[in-house]
Amino acid sequence: MGKQIFQEILVARSSQRPITWDDIIGLNNCKQQLQETIVFPFLRPDLFSGLREPINGLLLYGPPGTGKTMLAKCVAYQTESTFFNVSVSSITSKFLGESEKLVKGVFTLAAKLSPSIIFIDEIDSILGSRGSSGGGRESSRRFKNEFLTQWSNLSYSLAEDGSFNRVLVLGCTNLPWVIDDAARRRFQKRIYCPLPNFQDRINLIEMLLSKNKDNIAEFNNDQLQELAQLTDGFSNSDLLTLCKDASMEPIRELIKKGDNSILNVDKNNIRPINLKDFKTSINSNKIKGSVNLNTIESYDQWTDQFGS
Ligand code: ADP
Repeated sequence: MGKQIFQEILVARSSQRPITWDDIIGLNNCKQQLQETIVFPFLRPDLFSGLREPINGLLLYGPPGTGKTMLAKCVAYQTESTFFNVSVSSITSKFLGESEKLVKGVFTLAAKLSPSIIFIDEIDSILGSRGSSGGGRESSRRFKNEFLTQWSNLSYSLAEDGSFNRVLVLGCTNLPWVIDDAARRRFQKRIYCPLPNFQDRINLIEMLLSKNKDNIAEFNNDQLQELAQLTDGFSNSDLLTLCKDASMEPIRELIKKGDNSILNVDKNNIRPINLKDFKTSINSNKIKGSVNLNTIESYDQWTDQFGS
């Protein structure tokens, strides 16, 4: 079981490219709250005790592809924490009682290797309310109970060696309303990660275009604004898909020529991407926003009721 945790759940610090705040476009409110509630308390535990004792449960919710996972990884990096990446497949086992043991193992190890972040993507699928995809069956009820018990037992206390035990459960979900009441209450902070606004879209497109040298020079301010308007309702990952597709247009042109010029062309002679490429992607390749705008209303309602 320990082996499974080490192989599938524990993420080696050196195995990933670090994500910094600057890599994450927009979400300024989320970043600020994360710094105040997690980063500084993790780095200066002596300042954050008593009334200032930090939380041990934080939920990031919002439409898919808005940067929740990026934020979680950035927080882990900034706090120099041990990162446990728990997914449904890594934590649930078909063998009776195994999943509960795994949960216990993760929490025990997280305390030992503190400071730790137990990151759970799509938390709704393992802590969903009864009748939803995550709940209902006896085994998943037992699993959920074990998880909540382990979570309650977390204390931000002085360990035997004088250091602080710092373990945070950081959940992400696109479906916050599916989460079980008891689990929801354990997330003392619930932070909404919305779709990018107009300026965020411009900033992300600029950042992505700058990855291929000289492309950005093709775009003046008006064109960037037009592009941001055309992509109203897109998530950040939709924008990434769009930029990738548009960036293929100059290559497609070469391939279409049919004379194998793609194989001999000098890399520096590939023409830059332009606004027309983006329009082609949107119109003929049907790249569009993946988030149903009606669900935005559901997020707003949930935020009014339960958000921080
Ligand atoms: P979520 O967890 O909200 O579904 P992710 O963090 O997994 O979204 O984002 C998927 C990809 O989309 C990221 O790897 C990144 O390339 C891009 N992306 C999403 N949000 C942002 C953002 N705020 N800034 C920059 N890139 C982003």
